[in-house]
Amino acid sequence: MALLVQKFGGTSVGNVERIQSVAQRIASCKELGQDLVVVVSAMGHTTDELTGLAKSISKTPPQREMDMLLATGEQVSIALLSIALHELGIQAISMTGAQVGIVTESAHGKARILEIKTERLKSLLNQGKVVVVAGFQGTTTSQGGTAEITTLGRGGSDTSAVALAAALKADACEIYTDVPGVLTTDPRKVANAQLMKEISCDEMLELASLGAAVLHPRAVEIARNYGVTLIVRSSWSDQEGTQLTSDASKIIKQEGLELGRPVDGVELVEGQAVLALSHIPDKPGIAAKLFESLSNGKVNVDLIIQSTHEGNSNDITFTVTESELNKAKNVCKELIEKIGGKLSAEGGMTKLSISGAGIMGRPGVAASLFDTLSRAGINLRLIATSEVKVSCVINANLGNKALRAVTETFEINENQTIINPLLMSNNAPEVRGVALDTNQIQLSVKKVPDQPGTAAALCANMADAGISLDAIVQSERQHEDGSRDISFIMKREHRNHADKALVPLLAQWPGAELEEGPAIARVSAVGAGMPTTTGTAGKMFRAIADENINIAMIATSEIRTSCVVAEADGISALKAVHQRFGLDSVNQEI
Ligand code: ADP
Ligand code: ASP
Ligand code: MG
Repeated sequence: MALLVQKFGGTSVGNVERIQSVAQRIASCKELGQDLVVVVSAMGHTTDELTGLAKSISKTPPQREMDMLLATGEQVSIALLSIALHELGIQAISMTGAQVGIVTESAHGKARILEIKTERLKSLLNQGKVVVVAGFQGTTTSQGGTAEITTLGRGGSDTSAVALAAALKADACEIYTDVPGVLTTDPRKVANAQLMKEISCDEMLELASLGAAVLHPRAVEIARNYGVTLIVRSSWSDQEGTQLTSDASKIIKQEGLELGRPVDGVELVEGQAVLALSHIPDKPGIAAKLFESLSNGKVNVDLIIQSTHEGNSNDITFTVTESELNKAKNVCKELIEKIGGKLSAEGGMTKLSISGAGIMGRPGVAASLFDTLSRAGINLRLIATSEVKVSCVINANLGNKALRAVTETFEINENQTIINPLLMSNNAPEVRGVALDTNQIQLSVKKVPDQPGTAAALCANMADAGISLDAIVQSERQHEDGSRDISFIMKREHRNHADKALVPLLAQWPGAELEEGPAIARVSAVGAGMPTTTGTAGKMFRAIADENINIAMIATSEIRTSCVVAEADGISALKAVHQRFGLDSVNQEI
């Protein structure tokens, strides 16, 4: 008999009628002979309302008490759903996270799942019962040895469901929600977003951490690492929904559920060149022109970084393979003859990348990569971060030294090390989906010393405060004293922690100062076909330029390109990119 884990989100159990209709759906499934574990979220906006109550009493309520409070939301819905199932003659039993054996670490408000003790669950399933589990919560043992309630972080019921499916080796995990599946973008922002038939876990991980809130990124991480069959579909219809696909070679199936090793591969790509244009005009269309010209010249660009402007000029840095350096140089020269600016170009570079699931969700990982390289005396020419990969461009003569140091730090074996992989087309689209995130802010630390270890120190201090940095950009140009600027974006909710985390560094770097940029929106495009397609970036920048929107910052990683624009331009930029890649009329059957 098949064992399914089904999860119903807040809207799906938002009122009594909906709970009854979910119960009907479960009953029909049970009649087909399936074994069922059902995970539910709190009803409707309960979690927001409970948070509001606490915040009306205190700006900084203790995290333990918040967990105690928020966990009650799910307890209401499991009981009501079980009652509704009994009414239909289905034997059901509701269970809290603690009762069902979801053991987490102790970090209140964002606890990761360590283990699920499945004995009780299995015995109830053997008795033919439908087990209704409270999502989003678990239990941990306090220092004094007593049990404490923990929560997994907002949206965490998805993670509870996929973790249960992994622990029980269920045949599939189905996430039922208020949209027909994963769409090409958020339908609340772009009305003609289309349903995807499938998407790879890596693409979904990127999209989920870039603002596509349809799945909790940690749920996708578990699905990828444990090979869980994961489907997202509508609570209101019988449409098939979206199937997530995972690369069998990445399945690790190790103990520790969410505490598995975050880095599962290291890659070295030699023969790279870095081109940097500085002092170019800061106005719409410049990046579009540059990358369109490169694409017309058949130059495939890899990483792109554009930093915040100083005054009214910009710097754009990008990498190509060394064999395309001359072609790229000529294109750049032609452009700066027309628009002004300076060009520097150098070959003899190597790109070193670490890959895994949930790298951004674990701030310590990028910090530890940068720290390893800085301890080996290696300067980072370029940094690209993402949920599934962090890459650094370094001098080629230090490539092997860097590889040795990094494989040691992350305990990577030879099978997980790839040198100069062949770029092979995988039939995936260049852009599978796009996302908008308005919960980020842009910060710059001005006038930091230009020496190995600067980015590492910055990242490490932020990581200690639990903050991940995205789009870390080291400025191309130097101040008169040789110092540079480093800009990054990070979650708005971490702003106050960041101030504290940076105090010791600012004290150590005389003259350095922190500056917050204007309100921003990040628009991102994600597609596994991006590395093998020439011209994706140019197309995206052109779509934004055609709306007369200026791009303040660009950051790419292997399968994603992100542009930071003014907050007010976010939706227009998102719509323009969505349309330019034909996503409003896709037939994604690839
Ligand atoms: P649930 O309560 O079921 O967990 P969520 O609100 O967490 O539901 O997630 C579903 C919502 O995610 C949708 O209503 C939609 O607005 C939003 N969303 C954002 N990006 C996407 C996307 N790419 N595809 C589908 N939905 C998306
Ligand atoms: N109820 C929790 C929240 O609103 C968990 C979830 O719905 O996934 O964040
Ligand atoms: Mg959700």
